[in-house]
Amino acid sequence: MTDVINPATGEVFTTVPSLDLAATDAAIETAQRAFPAWRAVAPGDRARLLRRFAAVVDQHLEELAELEVRNAGHTIGNARWEAGNVRDVLDYYAGAPERLSGRQIPVAGGLDVTFHEPLGVVGIIVPWNFPMPIAGWGFAPALAAGNTVVLKPAELTPLTAIRLGELALAAELPEGVFTIVPGKGSVVGQRFVTHPAVRKVCFTGSTEVGKSIMAGAADQVKRVTLELGGKSANIVFADADLERAAASAPGSVFDNAGQDCCARSRLLVQESVYDKFLALLEPAVRAFRVTDPAQADAEMGPLISAAHKKTVTSYVEGSDVAFRGSAPESGGWWFPPTVLLAHSTEDRHWREEVFGPVLSVLPFKDEEDAVRLANDTEYGLSGSLWTRDLGRALRVSRAVETGALSVNSHSSVRYWTPFGGMKQSGLGRELGPDALLSFTDVKNVFLAMGD
Ligand code: NAP
Ligand code: MG
Repeated sequence: MTDVINPATGEVFTTVPSLDLAATDAAIETAQRAFPAWRAVAPGDRARLLRRFAAVVDQHLEELAELEVRNAGHTIGNARWEAGNVRDVLDYYAGAPERLSGRQIPVAGGLDVTFHEPLGVVGIIVPWNFPMPIAGWGFAPALAAGNTVVLKPAELTPLTAIRLGELALAAELPEGVFTIVPGKGSVVGQRFVTHPAVRKVCFTGSTEVGKSIMAGAADQVKRVTLELGGKSANIVFADADLERAAASAPGSVFDNAGQDCCARSRLLVQESVYDKFLALLEPAVRAFRVTDPAQADAEMGPLISAAHKKTVTSYVEGSDVAFRGSAPESGGWWFPPTVLLAHSTEDRHWREEVFGPVLSVLPFKDEEDAVRLANDTEYGLSGSLWTRDLGRALRVSRAVETGALSVNSHSSVRYWTPFGGMKQSGLGRELGPDALLSFTDVKNVFLAMGD
């Protein structure tokens, strides 16, 4: 059994089973047995089951949200959005089964057609930072394409995934089609990589573990989708609406206590407006409301664990602190929003993913310098740029090497647009029209007409 802790209080409030190798194999084999019948469900019927699953999630939205507030310390506003995102992603991919068309290709002497075949059992490994959305981004398209799914939640945050597994059964998805397998990454997650019946692994988490999964998958030429770390830049040009850029910068990095792979944790400000911009940013950072995440007006809750707080603290110690917000001081793993001045691109807090409410700031000279600094990282997940110059917005958007960019805003994840990283931020795309086909293989069939 594993203790489940409320990060806002530090108290254990329940326990969940931690499955061993034999139980993991049993779950994978159940999913394998469920596959032939699931792939054979008529497209319209599979669509209807997924829509019903979405409706059941919607009926339990508040319960799921409250569970996430307790288990992950997410603000109630965010947690409601996250549960709603699972519903929406299910509804979106519920439109897929009847639209998963192949091609007809002209070949003399017969008929050539392609099919998008499901892979079999898909293993999904989920981190603790966004337990519900990241689970849904994997299981919804995987199920829609006709695969069965085994899903391992993070040990720290298993509760909403376990509940979603129950809700799938309540929506009458057949037994074995969607199975939650709680346990350790080194046991359950690793078995998804080595078990031959698992034909694809979707992993979200650290770049280090992602690399080991990619290497392990090579052994069976297993398909992978990887969503890894980020160190995204928020680039503010002198001609931008500085007030709007400053007002929105805290949310772009401190949301979810900075435990977001898309966090805009590197702020690049054009040197001619650097002092002015920091003066606008300071009150916005100080006003960021860090409080009991169950409160309706909370903007940020605690960090996920004591160990993670220690890691985040190590980036601030000995660094040049520009200013900080405030946070509760007792009970739970609280950390105030913190802005650090970088003195060189070699500063550790500038280079590494902190995954906490820590923003690093550096000035730049001109457009070329901004692009060079933004790209001076192994990561390439998201980013933002602020300018009123349309040509510059287009040039910089094309030049910054990341999978998702926002101009004059910070939004980057919408369920109907593709999401994923360039460089070492990942491999493949989730969400949007692109994700579905990554849960299939193309089969080409030629039927001879005969004489
Ligand atoms: P992690 O170790 O990569 O964990 C992510 C998931 O992978 C968890 O479910 C974990 O299981 C599982 N896992 C761990 N080792 C595994 C292995 N050898 N084989 C298969 N699965 C394995 O991430 P973390 O330790 O929670 O966080 C460390 C850092 O990673 C963070 O500080 C952050 O920088 C980064 N991170 C990024 C994202 C993202 O969205 N890109 C998400 C989370 C973390 P357990 O439950 O047993 O840990
Ligand atoms: Mg780990």
